[in-house]
Amino acid sequence: MIEEIIAFIRQVHKAPEEFLPLHAPVFSGNEKKYLADCIDSTFVSSVGAYVGQFEDMVRKHTEAAEAVAVVNGTCALNAALSIVGAGQGTCVITQGLTFVATANAITHTGAHPVFLDSDRDTMGLSPDALRSFLHASAELRNGTPFFKETGQRIAACVPMHVFGHACRIEELIRICDEWNVPLVEDAAEALGSTYKGQALGTWGKLGILSFNGNKTITTGGGGMILTRDHELGRQVKHLVNTAKEPHAWEFSHDAIGWNYRMPNINAALGCAQMERLESVLARKRETAEAYKDFFSKIPGMEFMAEPDDCRSNYWLCAVLFPTKNLRDEFLRYSNDHDVMTRPVWKLMPDLDIYSKAVNDGLKVARELADRLVNLPSGVGGGT
Ligand SMILES: *Cc1c(COP(=O)(O)O)cnc(C)c1O
Repeated sequence: MIEEIIAFIRQVHKAPEEFLPLHAPVFSGNEKKYLADCIDSTFVSSVGAYVGQFEDMVRKHTEAAEAVAVVNGTCALNAALSIVGAGQGTCVITQGLTFVATANAITHTGAHPVFLDSDRDTMGLSPDALRSFLHASAELRNGTPFFKETGQRIAACVPMHVFGHACRIEELIRICDEWNVPLVEDAAEALGSTYKGQALGTWGKLGILSFNGNKTITTGGGGMILTRDHELGRQVKHLVNTAKEPHAWEFSHDAIGWNYRMPNINAALGCAQMERLESVLARKRETAEAYKDFFSKIPGMEFMAEPDDCRSNYWLCAVLFPTKNLRDEFLRYSNDHDVMTRPVWKLMPDLDIYSKAVNDGLKVARELADRLVNLPSGVGGGT
């Protein structure tokens, strides 16, 4: 069965023999042209027209009110969390099944992460797990939510949209609203995905995207902070830009800001990549549908299809094996045969650095983590 799966993966990607990466970037549009233009202009750094243009393109695509381009997704999340009030003496709720950047962005604000379980179908933060945790462990004091065990204020909740599939974002927002917990979306993997027709990253108070080299589109390194609130968006842009008050020559700063602004040269790459986003999404969807169809015919295998109400960007396609042993055997065989596959990230409390963090047992997340494999999901050349 394993050989059969490998043969099919190679067929889908029209890669009969060569090394097949998990997700390689493709630069087949105006990338070189815009980069050359950017260099010729000398505006390669934090001032230049491409940054605004790239923000406009992402803002229009996501229908956010404001989109602020920054140096990477981790810094985007770190700043977003600080801005909604995470810091020393607080905790932030997220899911145990996520990339380490989510947890690190929380920790670097000074807050302590709390890791809760995922839903089986979305792989994202489970509303039931969130409700249970808040009901058992939180209390509102004059409308402010606190974690009773530690006395920490609950500063935010950060669901993550795993591999571009939407978590139950509307229900999570409803619960967070009841408890006065600001919700910040980690949509790093989800550019181009929607829930009930609305772009992921625009549901929460703030949301973030990543344009790292392995994401759906890339700016080399890059990220974006999204919001539907104009005033908050302006505040975010100010703070990630050293909080400098606009003036022709004077340097005056009215807050302790960050130097997180995306350089123009990265944004130039981003503009060319955004021009091709629709065709990239269409190609990724074709790949996902081919995988889905193939795995539906293999007993015991389960392709992770987009959940209800979600249109996924299918950033990384994922399939569940019937057992951990079979999954591990597949990982070994495929990587030995030049087809790059990988398991999902270790659950956060399984890392030494987060082994002491509060968690709810992560029962569903653990089952997913034991059986899941990411398959090659890039769009190759020619898009
Ligand atoms: C990629 C990613 C990030 C961080 O993005 P960078 O741009 O690499 O800093 C954050 N969260 C998740 C879930 C990611 O997949």
